[in-house]
Amino acid sequence: MNTQLPSFLITGASSGIGAVYADRFARRGHNLVLVARDRARLEALAGRLRAETGVAVDVLPADLAVAEDLARVEHRLRDDDRIGILVNNAGIAAPGTFADAAIDSVDRLIRVNVTAVTRLAAAAVPRFVARGEGAIVNVASVLALVPEVSLGVYGASKAFVLSLSQGLQAELGGRGVYVQAVLPAATRTEIWERSERDIDKLQGVMEVGELVDAALVGFDRREAVTIPPLADAAQWDALDASRKALLPNLFNAHAAQRYRAAG
Ligand code: NAP
Repeated sequence: MNTQLPSFLITGASSGIGAVYADRFARRGHNLVLVARDRARLEALAGRLRAETGVAVDVLPADLAVAEDLARVEHRLRDDDRIGILVNNAGIAAPGTFADAAIDSVDRLIRVNVTAVTRLAAAAVPRFVARGEGAIVNVASVLALVPEVSLGVYGASKAFVLSLSQGLQAELGGRGVYVQAVLPAATRTEIWERSERDIDKLQGVMEVGELVDAALVGFDRREAVTIPPLADAAQWDALDASRKALLPNLFNAHAAQRYRAAG
């Protein structure tokens, strides 16, 4: 067991992107706390990683849409001094578009993709700030940038994750806490089948190992926003710069001329 490196708490570690994050960080020698609902899958992954890498792996089964379960994970983040990095990866997509989605599944999506991400970051940050170090990886999506794609509130939830990450970067960057937003595009995982979508109908699907390895290059560079499939980084830089250029023009005591009632 390695006591030097910080431990990672990874949500949504039972499959897909989260399970690969667990594999990669175990191979780097970090101890892990794995969170998801499926205890058997978490135990199987934990057993394999302990045997293959020798790190300590705890499993913390929890349904992040359920307040009492979420509170147990928050508690662990608040109290376990060994945890120095939170990977907010668990996320779901709801079947259908906004017009035809069942509101209960939309509500559940918001609890997992928005509320849990926020509460877990809030649980970790005071300890990280007090220590002057720590990191949070928030898995958003390129759909944060493309709300026109009709996946109901999924894109809006990921825009929240991106915006939260950028806000935390501004607030915490000078206090030793690194925050990374990762924006995957279509990646071959179970999320598609779980939300009743056929990934084989999509073009440009990335394999999950390639996605996580690319995200880790961004993590190691302490990049703020990592978009693995985007070939030309200057495109993101230009978008971000034009957003920031709005800032000096947004705070005015009077409405713009075009909104003033005629006569
Ligand atoms: P996935 O294979 O379906 O993994 C989702 C993970 O979240 C699983 O471990 C699942 O485990 C866990 N989870 C789901 N609901 C949960 C709940 N209520 N409480 C606790 N854990 C829960 O999908 P994935 O693609 O790896 O998703 C990981 C992240 O990547 C998500 O945030 C997703 O939005 C984002 N993303 C994915 C894609 C893509 O194309 N795959 C693209 C952009 C962004 P249990 O079922 O055991 O709870």
